[in-house]
Amino acid sequence: MEYYKKAPPQPSAVSQEIKDTVSEIILAVEREGIAAVRRYSEKFDGFAPESFRLSERQIAAGLAQVDEKVARAIDFSLTQIKGFAALQRATLTDFEAETLPGVTIGQKQIPVNAVGSYIPGGRYPILAAAGMTIGVPKVAGVKRIVACAPVQRGTGQINPSQLYGMVKSGADEIFSIGGAQAMAAMAFGLEGSDPLGAVDMIVGAGNAYVAEAKRQLFGVVGIDLLAGPTDILVLADESADPEVVAADLLAQAEHGVNSPGFLITTSRALAEAVSREIDRQLLTLPTADAAGPAWRDYGEIMIVESDEEMVQVSDWVAPEHLEVQTRDPDWFLQRLTNYGSLFLGHNATVAYGDKGVGTNHVLPTGKAARYTGGLWVGKFIKTVTYQTVTEAANSTVAPPFVTMADTEGMVGHAASMRLRLRVPELK
Ligand code: NAD
Repeated sequence: MEYYKKAPPQPSAVSQEIKDTVSEIILAVEREGIAAVRRYSEKFDGFAPESFRLSERQIAAGLAQVDEKVARAIDFSLTQIKGFAALQRATLTDFEAETLPGVTIGQKQIPVNAVGSYIPGGRYPILAAAGMTIGVPKVAGVKRIVACAPVQRGTGQINPSQLYGMVKSGADEIFSIGGAQAMAAMAFGLEGSDPLGAVDMIVGAGNAYVAEAKRQLFGVVGIDLLAGPTDILVLADESADPEVVAADLLAQAEHGVNSPGFLITTSRALAEAVSREIDRQLLTLPTADAAGPAWRDYGEIMIVESDEEMVQVSDWVAPEHLEVQTRDPDWFLQRLTNYGSLFLGHNATVAYGDKGVGTNHVLPTGKAARYTGGLWVGKFIKTVTYQTVTEAANSTVAPPFVTMADTEGMVGHAASMRLRLRVPELK
């Protein structure tokens, strides 16, 4: 493998300062509750209302501001996201089997009771976020979903189109709280005139403070996954269109100045053409202030000898989003093993996935695709097990396990099992 363009080494993404700020916020919210939330909200968002919970009237006022065409687009996205989640839900089944005569073992799928979903604010009010983190747990059967989002500077309101997505996705309670204080509030709960009952799991993407809060709160509550800066890898041969490849790389780079983009190709001519195209498109791209530095500091182009080497290097990168723009995408589908979501063929752009073609856009970043997939309906469902043993089966199960317990010195365990036995010499 040869680097046509190699990114310079970069510092670690999460600073000690962010870690310390977040642990201070979490501790304060745990100890002081709503008073701490109000203090940090005032400090970071200039927002300290009487109640953070949106009333019916506030929700109606927000929804009245939503453009009809935007509402229909969000509806379309939500239908695709929930439709695919329902198909995935059907693959999770309960079952029961007699594994030994008289021993029956089973598994059940039980939804998490209460989920807290964070909908990020920021430069881009991502409209599909609610479908991914509220619509999908609804399909899983989660009974209670709390949604938190920061208010927009200036308006003191959650972005109305995002609010529409939250309501249509099925949020049961909506709070205008942002950042680490939102994550802590959902994890610990808030008392007061508009209480927020603690949830069992917090999910959703956000800035470095939000991600760090999830990391520190894991254990107090469950989390989906730790999402860092978004990344993309494009595998392309000479059949790819350089203009399209360049546009797809820049589309992910515009997320932020630290979003990596990779091109792996068997064609030197394509590598050169894509590099030129990126420079050309950056001249007119209105979001070049983010995409330009991202490509300069985190963009890489690698030239390889064969399709097999493309697969090998791609699996080493383990990207969040992986596009295959080659003659035979199915060949790659059969062989690739490390990616969050795969976009096969010249038409399947990552942007479709981001906006809600059906798959979830909360995906593993920073090589986490080596060990996990992205958010999906199954993350909101606990696969639990149960067993029953007949009286007759005690004589099969107990003797080896009593031997193990005796050997371990676990006298209590041995006694518990001996009591089940009807074999006198083992009593
Ligand atoms: P956000 O909703 O993530 O965070 C806003 C909150 O950050 C504020 O309410 C505030 O409480 C907190 N905050 C801001 N400055 C702080 C500071 N100095 N100390 C402590 N807390 C502070 O919105 P955002 O940051 O404006 O932008 C959205 C972010 O979400 C972007 O970083 C974007 O990359 C990320 N995002 C990631 C994905 C993904 O899939 N990985 C998807 C969407 C958005």
